[in-house]
Amino acid sequence: MTTTWASVDPAVIASVDDVVRRVIGPAAAGVDRGSTFPAEGLEGLAAAGWGVLQLPTDVGGAGASSATYAEALARISAVCGSTSTVYMTQMHAAHPIHLRGTPDQVATWVPRLCDGSAIGSIALTEPSAGSDVSAMRTVARRDGDEYVVDGEKVFISNGDRADVVVLFASVDRSLGKDGVTAFLLDTRSLTGFEAGPPLHKLGQKGASTVALSFVDCRIPVSARLGEEGEGYPLLLQSVVRSRISAAAQGVGFAQGAFDAVVAWAGAQDLLSSRNPDAQDLQFELARLRGEITAARAMLLSICDDVDGSEVEPVAEVSLAKMHCTALGTRVAAACVQLLGADGDLVSLGAERLLRDAKIAEIYDGTNQIQSMLVARDIRLAAGQVR
Ligand SMILES: Cc1cc2nc3c(=O)[nH]c(=O)nc-3n(C[C@H](O)[C@H](O)[C@H](O)COP(=O)(O)OP(=O)(O)OC[C@H]3O[C@@H](n4cnc5c(N)ncnc54)[C@H](O)[C@@H]3O)c2cc1C
Repeated sequence: MTTTWASVDPAVIASVDDVVRRVIGPAAAGVDRGSTFPAEGLEGLAAAGWGVLQLPTDVGGAGASSATYAEALARISAVCGSTSTVYMTQMHAAHPIHLRGTPDQVATWVPRLCDGSAIGSIALTEPSAGSDVSAMRTVARRDGDEYVVDGEKVFISNGDRADVVVLFASVDRSLGKDGVTAFLLDTRSLTGFEAGPPLHKLGQKGASTVALSFVDCRIPVSARLGEEGEGYPLLLQSVVRSRISAAAQGVGFAQGAFDAVVAWAGAQDLLSSRNPDAQDLQFELARLRGEITAARAMLLSICDDVDGSEVEPVAEVSLAKMHCTALGTRVAAACVQLLGADGDLVSLGAERLLRDAKIAEIYDGTNQIQSMLVARDIRLAAGQVR
C-alpha cells in the first residue's frame, strides 16, 4: 500500500505502519474473536505520538493534515476495524472540545485524549433520534449551578470506557435544534449515569458500542461546552470530521481484503505470469486495485479541501463517505468471493474485513442521508433551493 499524495506525511505513515505491524496486526484476530477492547493498539499509536493526529501540537496533537490522518486510519483499518473505530473516536471526542472548549476544558481533556491517558466518546444518537439527531429527547435542565440530565443515548462507541463523554442534549425541547447544547461529562465523578454492556455486533467486535442512561444526573454548569443552543452547529462540524474517518475506514477495509487475496494468490502460485489459468484472477485484482486507488485519491483530495476551505465542504465529505464506505463493503465482498471457500476462513482475515466494513455505510450518517446532502447541494447549485 503506497501513497505519494503531497499532503500525506510519509514519516507519520511509516511510523503508523510500524505500530500496525508490531502491535495492531498481530492482535486483530484475537480482538475480533474475543470482542476484546484493543487498548494496546490505542496505546501503541499514542506512544508513537499519533494519538490525535490533526490537532495542533500545543494541545498535544501531531499537527498533521487531514490527508495524513485519513491515510493513517486507512492503514489501521486494513488490519483491524475495531482498533480503527476506537482510535477515530478519540479524535471525534477531542475535536469538538478543541473547537469550543474553554482553555480549562481544553487543558483538562485534549492533551490526555492525545496521549491516550484518557478515553473519549461522543454521544448524539438516541433510540428515536439517529438520522434526525435534532429530534433528541435527552434533556439537560438548568437548576442553579447545575444541569440535570435525563435521557438515553444508544450505540455510543467507547461509551463504557470513556473518561470523558461529549454529550449533546436539549436544554429546551420546544426550541428544536436551537435547544441542542453540548456538555463534557467527566464519568469518573458522575452519579445518575450508567453505561450498558457492549452490544454483540456483526463486526468491529472489539470496539465497544453501548447505551448510556442518565437519570437525574447532575453536572456543573462549568461542564457546558460552548453556550446554550450552540450544540447543533458544533454537532454538524463534528460529523464532517467523523465522516472523513468512516470514508478512510472504507478505503482501508477494501485495501486489507485486497492484500489478503494477493498474499493468498502468491502462496498458491496464482500470480505467476507463467500461469495462464490465473489470468482472470489477476485481471480482477487489477480492476479492484483501480477502484481502491480512485477512492483513495478522492478521499485525500477532499481531505485537502477540508484543510484548505474556510467553509467545510459538507457535500464533498458526504460524497467521500458514501463512495468509500460502499467501496469497502463491495471490494471486501469481491475479495471473499475470489478466495473461494478459503474466503470463509477466519485465518485469512478477509471475512472479518467484510464484517467490519458493512457498518461504516451506516454510522456517522447513513449513506442514504449522505445522498440527501449531496442531492441538496446539487439542487442548490442548480438554483432550486430556497
Ligand atoms: C457500531 C456503531 C457505532 C456507533 N457509534 C456512535 C457514536 O459513537 N456516537 C453516536 O452518537 N452514534 C453512534 N452510532 C449511531 C449511528 O451514527 C446511527 O446508527 C446512524 O446515524 C443511523 O441512525 P439510526 O440507526 O437511528 O437509523 P435511522 O435514522 O432510524 O434510519 C433507519 C433507516 O432509515 C433511513 N432513513 C432515515 N431517515 C431518512 C431520510 N430522511 N431519507 C431517507 N432515508 C432515511 C436510514 O438511511 C436507514 O436506512 C453508532 C452506530 C453503530 C452501529
